[in-house]
Amino acid sequence: MSETTGTALRCGGPREVRMPPSVVIERAVKRYGDKLAIDDVSLTVAPGSFLVLLGPSGSGKTTLLRSIAGIERLSSGRIAIGDVLAADDVRHLPPERRDLAMVFQDYALWPHLTAQQNVAFALRRRRLARNDAEQRSRAMLDVVGLGHLAERYPNQLSGGEQQRVALARALVADVGLLLFDEPLSNLDANLREQMRIEIGTLARESGATCIYITHDQAEAFALADVIGVLQAGRLVQCASPEDLYARPVTPFVARFTGLAGEFEVEVARAGPSGTASVRVIGVASGPQLPAQIAVPVYGRHRGRLLVRPAAVRLVAAEDPAAQLRARVSDAAFRGRGYDYAVAFDGGTKLVGIRDDRRWERGAVVGVNLDSEGCLLFPEEPSAANAAPSRSTHPAAAGEPVPGPTAV
Ligand code: ADP
Ligand code: MG
Repeated sequence: MSETTGTALRCGGPREVRMPPSVVIERAVKRYGDKLAIDDVSLTVAPGSFLVLLGPSGSGKTTLLRSIAGIERLSSGRIAIGDVLAADDVRHLPPERRDLAMVFQDYALWPHLTAQQNVAFALRRRRLARNDAEQRSRAMLDVVGLGHLAERYPNQLSGGEQQRVALARALVADVGLLLFDEPLSNLDANLREQMRIEIGTLARESGATCIYITHDQAEAFALADVIGVLQAGRLVQCASPEDLYARPVTPFVARFTGLAGEFEVEVARAGPSGTASVRVIGVASGPQLPAQIAVPVYGRHRGRLLVRPAAVRLVAAEDPAAQLRARVSDAAFRGRGYDYAVAFDGGTKLVGIRDDRRWERGAVVGVNLDSEGCLLFPEEPSAANAAPSRSTHPAAAGEPVPGPTAV
């Protein structure tokens, strides 16, 4: 492995560190009987980057992470960590030889060891003198703000404190690869944001390559350099947060990364240089949206317009420029403005709309859509949200993916 002059967070001050490893996964498959938990996943994580794997419950996140850790054995495929071949059809390197540390959802601390002893436990294979190990583990507990609780046992610590001990234990080992399995999901909402910031900061300062899994899109967007979206064991998109938000490749990805709502639209004829306009249908008295759509329209006459919350603007109902009209169905004060939900005649709703002004519940408002943040997809087949199968997923068939078209 090559050396770098970078510095990283270390107990006892910065010093020269190793280059963090890349992680390369090739055609990974994991079967449990008939069940495909991981379905042909290939993925490269750049050295020192922060990858978040995002997907709903049961999409295979934990299985993939545990396969990288070496806790699970792949059914087929290959995993390389840096220069080391960790797994292929014949080889399976045990977790302790993969130079990684993992933070679990349920903390996984030893109940019979104090906080300090739990952290020092991660150093047991370093053959450090006992004093050194103790000193380093105490210093790392200071870093996570728990120095004063070093002598407590896990059952004398809150959930948040236990997760800090687990974080210190992962960081103190000074490994090249840090793995996180939904570390925030057992914490209270207010603590979650604080821990999220600390994990993001400390993990980055450590210089390690990080792979973090979550079902929470806000967490993913806040932490990631790159987000990989998992659906039913398949990696359906891997992109920067900005790209994923602007150009989700399927309605599933768009929905899972945050929508205000959806409209069924009619695509009016294509205009010059491949533009067209859409008319919202299924919404009573919905005027035509003046927006022009970049091509292609997939040769269909109907589609779905998926709308990001940031694309929705509320205006006065009588504003002549109002594109649509709806009724305010919910208004939540958020300190920095309000979050609104609006309902259209016919039942369509848009939610999560930010606005600084106060609109009364029940009031009629004008609703305008910014073209950026409106995603046009072709009308979905009946199995609308089904996992893309190998035979029908266009990307798998080598066809261009009919991604969204910004309105
Ligand atoms: P996630 O972490 O995204 O919620 P998991 O990786 O835990 O998903 O699970 C993926 C799928 O594999 C699920 O359908 C789950 O039921 C199944 N699965 C996971 N572990 C096992 C196991 N040990 N035996 C059988 N099925 C499993
Ligand atoms: Mg899981």
